[in-house]
Amino acid sequence: MATHIVCRNCGYRIPLSFRLRTEAPIHFVVACPSCGYRGVYSYADVVEEGVYRYTCEVCSTRLYSFRTGYVKCPACNSKYCIASNGSWKLIEKGSPPQKTQQSPVAIGAVLGGLSAASKGKDSLEKLANTILGALAGMVLGSIVSALVEALSSVEREVIYEAT
Ligand SMILES: [Zn+2]
Ligand SMILES: [Zn+2]
Repeated sequence: MATHIVCRNCGYRIPLSFRLRTEAPIHFVVACPSCGYRGVYSYADVVEEGVYRYTCEVCSTRLYSFRTGYVKCPACNSKYCIASNGSWKLIEKGSPPQKTQQSPVAIGAVLGGLSAASKGKDSLEKLANTILGALAGMVLGSIVSALVEALSSVEREVIYEAT
């Protein structure tokens, strides 16, 4: 489970302390222990070793593992077996986590509706404002849920099972 970069000057493989390419900063300076050349590298230069990646077939969580054998998806408990050639095989389906996408929309609609309702004086105006507020809330809600989805789409390390 190591990452390295290749020295641009002499080709020496310089070991890095990151476990994953995604842990590396966008740009960083590394001095080569072999030739002394100091170079600026980007995370794209990082070479990963012994990392197995897969997207869970059950819950679509992006997974990574540092070893082969039996592992579990941390989100839905689906069981996989990673072969020595790096291929993942679904052994046992877990239960996908409850979809929470509906709730931010609902909360947004309620909040939007409430804030708009207090503005109108006339009841019809109030109703129109409530509907408009609810619509605005729904837009806000869907932005929130898109954000939640983006955050939860980050890679997750698998749970290692005893073999
Ligand atoms: Zn070098
Ligand atoms: Zn899963």
